[in-house]
Amino acid sequence: MYTMGIDVGSASSKVVILKDGKDIVAGEVIQVGTGSSGPKRALEQALSKTGLNMEDMTTVVATGYGRFAIEDADKQMSEISCHAKGIAFLVPTAKTIIDIGGQDAKAIKLDNDGGVKQFFMNDKCAAGTGRFLDVMARVLEVELSEMAEYDSRATEPATVSSTCTVFAESEVISQLSKGVSIENIVAGVHQSVASKACGLAYRAGVEDDVVMCGGVAQNAGVVRAISRELKRPVIVAPNPQITGALGAALFAYIEASKKVVNEA
Ligand code: ADP
Repeated sequence: MYTMGIDVGSASSKVVILKDGKDIVAGEVIQVGTGSSGPKRALEQALSKTGLNMEDMTTVVATGYGRFAIEDADKQMSEISCHAKGIAFLVPTAKTIIDIGGQDAKAIKLDNDGGVKQFFMNDKCAAGTGRFLDVMARVLEVELSEMAEYDSRATEPATVSSTCTVFAESEVISQLSKGVSIENIVAGVHQSVASKACGLAYRAGVEDDVVMCGGVAQNAGVVRAISRELKRPVIVAPNPQITGALGAALFAYIEASKKVVNEA
């Protein structure tokens, strides 16, 4: 039995196809999100990679900011539930999840069964999100994928104190003009994102294992800064951008199994 999870975020579109509720046969990411061609392209990529078609999917669940625009979905579910489900599947020892995506950051506390016990979210402001990092990378003329490397060469991380992305951008430009190294500014930017994410995590309650997901989890500089701030190791989920879509595909499997029982 095949089920599909579609996670349409603000920055990217993700599709996971799951076989029998346990084998990930496709996990595709297109780096553009809701309102773009991203969802359709991610879906087509997942189908063409596996040689399957939509009729093969017993159930489809959509999640993410753009989930209500997905016509192929049988059901929509929140990102909080889907990230929790996906992480509990990948890292059964997880108790605290930090998810930093394109437009929001979340801290989720799991109960012993992998269910959501508590969560806190920042979706009101770009600071502390992937968008903040995207803006800073552009100003610093550094590729997102290179930021962790710059961070690892920092000798004296700069202080990025503005709590607003627009002001923080001006602060970074001013530091650049004063000759502060890109390495030290990048480390300061990562520190700023980490302290906001940790603020959410402290409110939710931090308990091992701490697992990070979302696109920003691919930035080892942010992961290191969070780990330093929380004074404990942080596990990065395998393929961290697709955990929401994976959770949606797992929920789709639960729905599909109910359907099979009802039809029997
Ligand atoms: P959403 O679900 O809200 O669409 P994602 O979880 O896909 O967001 O995260 C998007 C963010 O991930 C981007 O804003 C960017 O900062 C970050 N990101 C994406 N790819 C990379 C990469 N290769 N290295 C570092 N950061 C990345």
